[in-house]
Amino acid sequence: MKTVLTRLLILVVALIPSLSAAQIRIVIDPGHGGTDPGGVGNGLQEKNIVLDVANRFKALLDADTANTSGGGSWVALRTRTTDTFVSLSARAAFSNNQDADRFMSIHANAFSDPSAHGTETFAFAEGGLGAALRNLVQSEMIAAWGLTNRGNKTANFAVLRDTAAPAILHELAFITNATDVLKLGSATERQKAAVAHLRAIQRHFGITPFVPSLLAFADSRPSADPAAGPEVPDDPGSGGHAGCSTSSGPSGAFTAVALLGLATIARRRRR
Ligand SMILES: [Zn+2]
Repeated sequence: MKTVLTRLLILVVALIPSLSAAQIRIVIDPGHGGTDPGGVGNGLQEKNIVLDVANRFKALLDADTANTSGGGSWVALRTRTTDTFVSLSARAAFSNNQDADRFMSIHANAFSDPSAHGTETFAFAEGGLGAALRNLVQSEMIAAWGLTNRGNKTANFAVLRDTAAPAILHELAFITNATDVLKLGSATERQKAAVAHLRAIQRHFGITPFVPSLLAFADSRPSADPAAGPEVPDDPGSGGHAGCSTSSGPSGAFTAVALLGLATIARRRRR
């Protein structure tokens, strides 16, 4: 009996360093790009907004990894890093080939009725890790931007369905709404959105939220300064393109957030 306990203890002690050293692989998916502008409204194009938020989120994950005084350790990957078209199947394939632990797609909503507004987040199905992460991203974004909470939802989107990793698709706000667009069009607000995503993924993995010093990060890596990033260029609206599906349903109930254990680092399918 003692031998078994001793062996177990040795095993646990041996696993602790490898667990703490494990880097969590996050694929960030900025929607649309290139010939596909996504939603268009109020002089902005979705593809530019979401790429900027994705780049800021990536910079935060990198800074968190570099900072050993708190937070987590991540490998932050993006399905696109510039204004290029990437098919939905290629986005999912990239995530699968990269053996992602989580897949996080970032979009902005659009609708023909400019009164549609608010923030919503999707997972493929209820009950899994994707849904748990979805709830945290939604909760952090409502806290960060304070827009109308359209709720935690499910959808049969290709990037949610075809990714092996637990996946979410977040709709920041409506680019077609005059109030929402004040958030989307502001670099300061987009940085807050990136921080909300960082806090959500940290909490999802049981890590106490930690926002690394971006000034120090920017000093060492000036090419990736998220705090002083360029404004999203104002593009003339081409009109008529609803880039993202929207729901006209009422805002969903604010779902209680469930913290997941550290063991969720292990690769798992969400369903
Ligand atoms: Zn979109």
